Amino acid sequence: VAKQQFQTVRGMYDLLPDRRSLFDYAAAAFINVAVDAGYGRIETPVLEDEGLYSRSQGQGVDLVDKELYRLIDLSDKTLALRPEGTAGVVRAYLEHGMGSLPQPVKLYYQEAMFRYDRPQEGRYRQHQQFGVEVIGDASPSVDAQVIMLAGRAFKRLRLQGVTLQINSIGDALCRPKFRKALIDYLNENVKQLAEIDRERLSKNPLRVLDSKEASTQVILGDAPQMLNFLCEKCQQHFAGVLEYLDDLGVSYDLNPLLVRGLDYYTRTVFEFYGEREGSQSSLGGGGRYDGLVETLGGVPTPAVGFAAGIERILLEMDAAGVVPPEQQIKRVYVASLGEPARLAAFRLIESLLDGNVSAVGAVDRDGIGAQLARAEKLGVPLAVIIGQKEVREETALLRDMATGAQETIPLKDVVAELRMRFGIS
Ligand code: AMP
Repeated sequence: VAKQQFQTVRGMYDLLPDRRSLFDYAAAAFINVAVDAGYGRIETPVLEDEGLYSRSQGQGVDLVDKELYRLIDLSDKTLALRPEGTAGVVRAYLEHGMGSLPQPVKLYYQEAMFRYDRPQEGRYRQHQQFGVEVIGDASPSVDAQVIMLAGRAFKRLRLQGVTLQINSIGDALCRPKFRKALIDYLNENVKQLAEIDRERLSKNPLRVLDSKEASTQVILGDAPQMLNFLCEKCQQHFAGVLEYLDDLGVSYDLNPLLVRGLDYYTRTVFEFYGEREGSQSSLGGGGRYDGLVETLGGVPTPAVGFAAGIERILLEMDAAGVVPPEQQIKRVYVASLGEPARLAAFRLIESLLDGNVSAVGAVDRDGIGAQLARAEKLGVPLAVIIGQKEVREETALLRDMATGAQETIPLKDVVAELRMRFGIS
């Protein structure tokens, strides 16, 4: 036996049919709520100019500094595999002049993301995200609507234990004051900071707030909080978002330490957590990014978005024992006995498929017993059997697989009969 030479790249995985269909089920919950709310699907390329990501994220962001898959193409251009969806969508918004469309522009996507991170359960080097972006509306109601949309999808998936955390990280006007207060505070307590957080303190101090390090967390208890530094407009905006959520009875936790990793966020940031234990329990998150369109060369345009990781949602569904409602696939197995019946079966399968009837069968293989055993295994409700007698009489045997009852019908009527039985109009 030859030794297998290739395997999936570290941190990447194959999705086999059962898992893939669960994946589709989870993604469909998000896609449906987005379509109902008037979002249009967008797809952007996997490869973008590397600069798109380094420009939009800013300095000291792991996503760019440590996790970006860069590649140099044959004409020496530096490209990057998409690590997140927002930057590409905003690039497309600008490139296609979507600023002249009625605002806001509401887009959703479901695409693969690539991050060179240390793989573990719930963290992969290629993963899929569903995301929405609402570009061109500064109202607090839109933040609340995006949060509601995500919450609705989690509910449709019957993930009851998902919780919401929310915070405001201010804007370019008020955040620098907070940043300074935070840096001063952290410097005073630098001895207690974990090694990695000392590095963060010098590169991207806000990131220290969501540190998982125990020693850092101790001093974060008394750290200055952004909510006390918000300027009046940011304060009003955040109060507005919370009022809308309160009005709908949404429960949330105010988490002053929530900053989210990326630099482009302004004002509202939020994150949904699952019940699963462990550090990879964030199912999705988002926030406002009122400065990003301008950073990428457009006129100042407010925007808000959300993205969820589908693999994490599947793990959450596993843990919560959520399975999709069983779908009995209406499919017929075509079996044949003997040489002349072989061609009749081959033709019948193709006519059934032409007629939108799902049909399978092993035309020139196996005896009739093996064929019917396979039909049984596949769990099809019906089989059509063509033997020599049937070929001669231009008929077919229709077998109910559950009861074993058989009836003879004219071969030319099989497609219409099955369409009727399967309710195909
Ligand atoms: P982020 O914008 O980094 O918060 O990513 C949004 C969501 O994508 C997260 O809440 C996770 O559910 C998911 N996610 C992020 N990175 C990974 C990864 N490396 N593997 C699997 N899922 C991920």
